[in-house]
Amino acid sequence: MTGIVVLGSTNMDLVAYVAKPPKRGETVTGREFATVPGGKGANQAVAAARAGGDVTMIGAVGADEFGALLRHTLKASGVDTDLLRTADGPSGTAHIVVDDDGGNSIVVVPGANGTVTALAPGDEAVIAAADLLLLQLELPLGAVLDGALAGRRHGVRTVLTPSPVQPLPPELFAAVDLLVPNEHEAAALTGVADPYEAAAALLRSVPEVVITLGSAGCLHAARDTAPVTVPAPRVTAVDTTAAGDTFVGTLAVALGEGRPVEQALAWACAAAALSVQRPGASTSMPYRPEIDSAS
Ligand code: AMP
Repeated sequence: MTGIVVLGSTNMDLVAYVAKPPKRGETVTGREFATVPGGKGANQAVAAARAGGDVTMIGAVGADEFGALLRHTLKASGVDTDLLRTADGPSGTAHIVVDDDGGNSIVVVPGANGTVTALAPGDEAVIAAADLLLLQLELPLGAVLDGALAGRRHGVRTVLTPSPVQPLPPELFAAVDLLVPNEHEAAALTGVADPYEAAAALLRSVPEVVITLGSAGCLHAARDTAPVTVPAPRVTAVDTTAAGDTFVGTLAVALGEGRPVEQALAWACAAAALSVQRPGASTSMPYRPEIDSAS
């Protein structure tokens, strides 16, 4: 089994569905409310575990009911939560207002995620024993860098999803083996809109890049091979929440199994296409047999 460590965030998404979002000072009545376990780290962990990885999550939940629920959601998908700390104070929350046009506005309060400022004793040994380390940018940057440097020290393949996108220090780029931005993040990091050109620019900082392209699939580029695009299956998308996290978690499992890169990308695209056909984040993520029969 592919050993995967995810160092990342856990959030409870609190979603209100409204006809029109309120203006400042206004109160509106919503149509529906949902609490959905999420956070980019937890989403990638669940996706990887369902795809057949042996997954450990490092991060923190709060000492509240959301924290217990977030931990339970990870465990229920087979993720090892022994290194998931319980911090004093609230869990991370994302307050999401979705309007009838499908637009949304989001306030993220990091809560417990903000307490993860560095690796804890015991984290490095678990990272050292893994095949891949998955990082995103919803934890304090110091912890992300700490994790990436630990991955580099132990020769663990380190995959960074640069989301939410922000300027990255060169020492973080230098410790990353594979960068997986979506096309907007790739453009924000490079100042170049064309994905092929953005990929070429990113290859100056990291050896391998996969840019996800929504319904157009993804683009793979590495320093020693010609770029390739892999199409996404044609499906009717109802909710693209966590499609990127499903893609990355599934891709990590396939790469850890040593599959050729195009095959691994097609498998990840199949998993992400399944996830967009169902509502929610972790609720929409497929298990391995379903991915196999879709690809
Ligand atoms: P994105 O973050 O939008 O680039 O999406 C991540 C991945 O999810 C893409 O690389 C696709 O594999 C998949 N995906 C996203 N949207 C769709 C869609 N409408 N149809 C099929 N696959 C999709």
